[in-house]
This record gives sequence, structure tokens and C-alpha cells, in this order.
Amino acid sequence: MSDAIGLETRAVRAGVNRDPGHGAVIAPIAVSSAYRREDPAAPSGFDYARTGSPGRDLLCEAIADLEGAQGAVVTSSGMAAIDLVLNLVPSQGRVLCAHDAYGGTRRLIDARGQQRGWTVEYVDCTDREAAATALARPADLIFIETPSNPRLRLTDIAALCELAGKAGALSVVDNTVLSPALQRPLALGADLTVNSITKMLNGHSDMVGGVVCATSKAYLETLRWWSNAAGATASGFDAFLALRGLRTLPLRAKAQSETALTLAQRLAAHAKVTQVDYPGLTTHPGHAIAQRQQTGFGCLLSLELKGGESAARSFVQSLKLFTLAQSLGGVESLSNIPATMTHASMSAEARADAGVSDGLVRLSVGLEAVEDLWRDLEAGLAAAVGD
Ligand SMILES: *Cc1c(COP(=O)(O)O)cnc(C)c1O
Repeated sequence: MSDAIGLETRAVRAGVNRDPGHGAVIAPIAVSSAYRREDPAAPSGFDYARTGSPGRDLLCEAIADLEGAQGAVVTSSGMAAIDLVLNLVPSQGRVLCAHDAYGGTRRLIDARGQQRGWTVEYVDCTDREAAATALARPADLIFIETPSNPRLRLTDIAALCELAGKAGALSVVDNTVLSPALQRPLALGADLTVNSITKMLNGHSDMVGGVVCATSKAYLETLRWWSNAAGATASGFDAFLALRGLRTLPLRAKAQSETALTLAQRLAAHAKVTQVDYPGLTTHPGHAIAQRQQTGFGCLLSLELKGGESAARSFVQSLKLFTLAQSLGGVESLSNIPATMTHASMSAEARADAGVSDGLVRLSVGLEAVEDLWRDLEAGLAAAVGD
């Protein structure tokens, strides 16, 4: 759609009035694995659902439009999307990755690196000097995640992508935490973005999916080739759920950001809380970057309590509205202790390096009433007992 059209409109209208069969306003769920041919030598349109299916194509189009991309490839999970991108790195290549990237990303890049003879280096992308030093030598790809998860540290996307370009490296931004509703890395110079559709994009915690977006048609062609060859594609039903979910993405992202800011401000003023990480707080070291490159501060915040690890455990176990579960970005609020949950696959050393202490608590703020969420947090803090 044209750039003049608002994000809310793009999201709501995505895939609407696109049913050629019966004129259905909402396109039917496409579950067929095979498509009939008239000619044995050439498909009539769709051919085989691993290669392409109408529902998945609508979802690709919708997400590419929101990200400002030339196209998108939807995959069976966020990790499959990241793995798809890694096919663009030659064997013996040099790969840089944000040192505080999602734990699963580090696990995959380490394993693929060993298998394919890459040099893998973890860099603090929030430190311009450190990033410039790492990119002073040629590289094949840099993987950026901002805000980082769980510490919500901010990387200046435009500055990093410029450095990456000079080093000959493809710049990839994991946009999962904010989603294209709040941040558009391709417009800031990134070559590719990846999103876990499982999180903000779908927003209803009822499917697993991922997506790669790109501005270059050549990269998209290579990614589509690998997607068909390796077959980590999304199902028709999941594509339907995700398209349905993303229609409210801009509204959800806005409301969740507003509630998260209120909670972050109140938590920061609470006597039992020693640290709150939220880019919307004026005291956050990345606040200025967030104001510049984001259109909202997002649903994720993290905190540390007086009493450390044991206080954190009793806090999350006494919460009623923040379900203790490993995900983020859904309409329902969740709590998480990254050290033993989402980031358990990282070594203790890598966690320390990324600032993930054993007592860190991450909250994903949903769409419940802000005062209900605050009452729940206050009660949890009152119940938190440290060592
Ligand atoms: C969840 C997540 C992923 C992986 O996505 P899946 O859909 O779980 O495979 C990647 N990056 C970030 C930042 C995530 O939060």
C-alpha cells in the first residue's frame, strides 16, 4: 500500500477482499497441500503447498507491507526464519552477533558456525566503539537485536547498518520484541529483518511462526529457494491465525506500550525494586535512541528485586495475572525468569556477559486493565521474600 496509508489501515485491510472463489471478505483457510494442473508441464497457479499457498502468500504480503519490505518469507517458527537467513553466509564466513541476542539465536549461530567453519564473534552492539572495531575487518553478516531481550538495551540501527555496509556485511535485525508496528529497521538501513510471528505479530499466543523480510529481490529469491528446498514453511491454519492476529497489531502495540510505561514508572519508584529496564523511562541509557528509531517503547520490561534470586522466584510465583510462561507479546501478561527459562540454553558465562543475572525478572505486559496489573504486581512485591 502507499506510504500515506496509516499502519492501522494497512493491518486491518491485510488480506481483506482477496477471495477469488466466492468473494468472501475474509479469505478462506487454505489447507490443500496440492493444486490441480491443466498442463502436466506447467502449474496453473499454485502447485504444491510447501512452495506456496494462497493463505501464506497473503500473510507474506501483509507483513512485508508493515515492515516496508519488497517481500517476505514466512516460516514455521522464528528460529526457522533465523536459520533461513544463515543460508546467506558462505562456509568459512565471518559472522558477528549481538552478545545479548535471544538465547536460541546464539545456540543456533554457534552450532551452524561449527558445522560450516565460520568465525563467530559476539559483540556489544550498544557500544559504538566495540561495534566499529569488530566491523573494521570484512564480515559476511551481523545479527542485531534491539531492544535486546531481556535487558532492553538499545542499538542504534542506522549507525550499525552503515558500519556493516562498509565491512561488506549483511545487516539483519531481529524485530521480534517491538514488531513492525513500533520499529521499521529496513527504513533505517537494515538489509533484512526477522520476526518471530509467535510473539507480537500474531499476539494471541496460539501459533508458532516466523518471517524474514528483505528489500532486495535477489536475497528474497535465494531465501525462497532455501525455504522450498528445506521446507520449514508455515501451515495454512497458522497463516490464517497470524493474519487474523496482525489486524489489531498497531492497536495492541500502542496499548501494551502505554500500560508497560505506567507499570515501569511505578515499579522504578517501589522500595523493593532495585532496577527497572524499560526504554520508555527517561533514566534508561537508550531512551534517546528509542525516541529516535521507535514509535513506541514496547510491551517488555525487566526488573531486579532486593533479595535477588529467591525474591524473584517468590515474586513470580505469587503473581496471578502475569502467568509464569516463556513467551512475550501476547494479549495476556506473562512473567519469566530468563536465567532458568528463556535464556537457560546460554552458558552461565554468556548470560553474565549479556547482563542476565539469576534474579532478573522479565515481564511481558498484555492488554489487561493497568490497575489490575498494578495491584497484582504490588501484591507480588509484598509477598517476595529474599535471602
Ligand atoms: C521467541 C524469539 C525468537 C524465536 O522465535 P520462535 O517463534 O520461538 O522460534 C527469536 N528472537 C526473539 C527475540 C524471540 O523473542
